[in-house]
Amino acid sequence: MYYNSINNKLNIKQFCNIFFSNIPKNKTLFFPFKLPFFNNKYLNYLKKLNYVNFSFEISKLFLNNISDEDLYKILYNSYNNKKFIKLEKISNENHLLNLNNGFTLTFKDIAMIPLSNLINYFSFKNKKKFIIFCATSGDTGASANNSFKNIKNVKIFTFYPFNMVSNIQRKQMSTLISKNILNYSIIGNFDISQYFVKKIFENIKNNEKIFLLSVNSINWFRIIMQLIYYCYISIKNYNEKKFNFIIPSGNFGNALSAYLSKKIGFPINKIIPCTNDNFYLDNYIKNNKIENILLKRTISPSIDISIPSNFIRLINKNFFKKKIINEINNDIFSDKIYNKHIINSIEYFYQKYNKIYDPHTITSISSFYKDNNDNNNNNNKIVVSTSYPIKFIFSIKKIIPNIKIKFNIKKIFSLKEKYKLFSQNFLVLINSIKKNINV
Ligand SMILES: *Cc1c(COP(=O)(O)O)cnc(C)c1O
Repeated sequence: MYYNSINNKLNIKQFCNIFFSNIPKNKTLFFPFKLPFFNNKYLNYLKKLNYVNFSFEISKLFLNNISDEDLYKILYNSYNNKKFIKLEKISNENHLLNLNNGFTLTFKDIAMIPLSNLINYFSFKNKKKFIIFCATSGDTGASANNSFKNIKNVKIFTFYPFNMVSNIQRKQMSTLISKNILNYSIIGNFDISQYFVKKIFENIKNNEKIFLLSVNSINWFRIIMQLIYYCYISIKNYNEKKFNFIIPSGNFGNALSAYLSKKIGFPINKIIPCTNDNFYLDNYIKNNKIENILLKRTISPSIDISIPSNFIRLINKNFFKKKIINEINNDIFSDKIYNKHIINSIEYFYQKYNKIYDPHTITSISSFYKDNNDNNNNNNKIVVSTSYPIKFIFSIKKIIPNIKIKFNIKKIFSLKEKYKLFSQNFLVLINSIKKNINV
């Protein structure tokens, strides 16, 4: 498959080139030149496959520079015998899609595991050591550390804002003691961590031995791996009525994946991303208005994003802006749930139904239950759950003090933590990195 840059249509690349082009260097995003389309006959064939074979059939159309056999192995090693996705009935026609059954309890594990296996493959094939940089507000870092921990020839540097990730998120990152994982805790907010990662790419260059790569939610391979579960769930459960997906959204990666699943022919009607007080996305979708908003901290940190890069990628994907805006208005609805409402809803669902949702999943749940929701006319909704309450237990305890959540995560409380604390002195930081990668 060919991809073109959203800034320069003549800049056409193959999967491999976009996978290895780091955003800080090129400052551009890529989008498929032409999406594949699965007709009914092909959908009927796919419907019968298990997850490994299914993911292989879909992803091979998006990739090149990798043989079918190698791609199959990567997917087999990532997905065989694992139950990452679970659909649960919530009312007549409506369901909750749990994407949070991976090791670090977020949907991010589903794409991060094959990503680590793919990088392992490229490192072996190209005889290079990969240095991965990851700036995180909590979930991506935990998932990345866990996925890359046993990958040979890969070293991962994870940057997170000191005191701004949840206790459990920090422990998930820092208790994974492994020579190839380095946790850098930076005093400041997430933007500073992200800014430092960008500066690192300006300061350290690739050479014949090492290759620097950042893994964040604009990584195209992650988008492909996420698209697969929307395709899988919709076709496996299809019964004459298309599905609507309600998705807690930050950088719009997960929602973009759902949108693409619709575009390649799967039975999906509307995509409904839900944001919190950081509602750039909602504003754009409802009013076609671009209004930069000041980032607010909320109790749902993983969707505290001021400008959703993957949405920017979508609206700039071709010259015919009007056409894509019309398409977006047809296919994508949106909702925003303010922090205050998130807090009230967590309490409400606990008091009324004895259910506890994490502060991200509660956005899609609240949107679903809202009485006069614009989107209510069409049922067959799938509410997406992106995390587990236990990860945010300290925020939830502030809302429901006596809450007890059963989950076997106690172990990480007794494990030793390993991270380095840095002030905002870039020179100190870059020297430490250079020392650790021997350049
Ligand atoms: C990352 C994350 C999101 C947001 O996903 P995007 O792809 O950035 O929109 C939502 N919920 C949780 C729990 C997350 O970790």
